[in-house]
Amino acid sequence: MKLIRKGKISYMQPDWVTGESVIAGFTTRNGGISRPPYNSLNLGYNTEDARHNVEGNRSNLTRAFDLHPHQLLTVKQVHGADILIVDQPNHDLSHFLTVASDAIITNQAGFMFGVLVADCFPVLLHDPMLKVGAAIHIGWRGAANCLLGKTIEAMHATFGCQAENLQAAIGAGIGAHHYEVDRTVRDAFRQGSGRWPQIAEETSLGKWQLDLKRSCLLQLEDVGIKSSNIGVVEECTCCHREMFFSYRRDQGVTGRQLGFMIL
Ligand SMILES: [Zn+2]
Repeated sequence: MKLIRKGKISYMQPDWVTGESVIAGFTTRNGGISRPPYNSLNLGYNTEDARHNVEGNRSNLTRAFDLHPHQLLTVKQVHGADILIVDQPNHDLSHFLTVASDAIITNQAGFMFGVLVADCFPVLLHDPMLKVGAAIHIGWRGAANCLLGKTIEAMHATFGCQAENLQAAIGAGIGAHHYEVDRTVRDAFRQGSGRWPQIAEETSLGKWQLDLKRSCLLQLEDVGIKSSNIGVVEECTCCHREMFFSYRRDQGVTGRQLGFMIL
């Protein structure tokens, strides 16, 4: 993973991005126009930030890659299990803003797609042979639901992607040391198959520190993605105020960063 400056923005880029074949990364909070507490590259419309600021920030981001703001596809993230598959050209991507989904898969080139986060984990998947990409939003519900595994199954079913060919990247999210959860979360993992014993540590009665990043890694490795093909942003969003928005740190009043890809 390395920090790249491009136009006005900066982002973390996985090491498997080489040459011109794919663009992928995770934005930092820097390089935008929003005022505190959304300073500055807030890309989420689902905040109290002024809409024209978010539009300006999306413009800064897309312009850095020679795209127009209407060539950025984001969805209405709801911590659900629905996966959006985009397998044909779309001239207007704005209507996807109202589509409830937490994972996006596409084989279409020439536009940016991504997931918005502030503590949840953005995960990117790329099949360099078949030229298919995915962006997934993983909070505790998505982790307990094995949304990563389901997305990879959908990539296989729809486009024939093989896990052993996939490249993956896990962006910045909240570290376990800042992420205490309760029985509701534990029960969701017990019903799903998110490997609770390996990712949770009980800190007091009915309270656990949950390692969502490790959950993502284990899910990717469980389906057969090579660990050498997985890039990870190590920084915790909550600890790194200068780099990232953090929902928990700022009691919900904060911006959103984007895990993005352009095929
Ligand atoms: Zn932290």
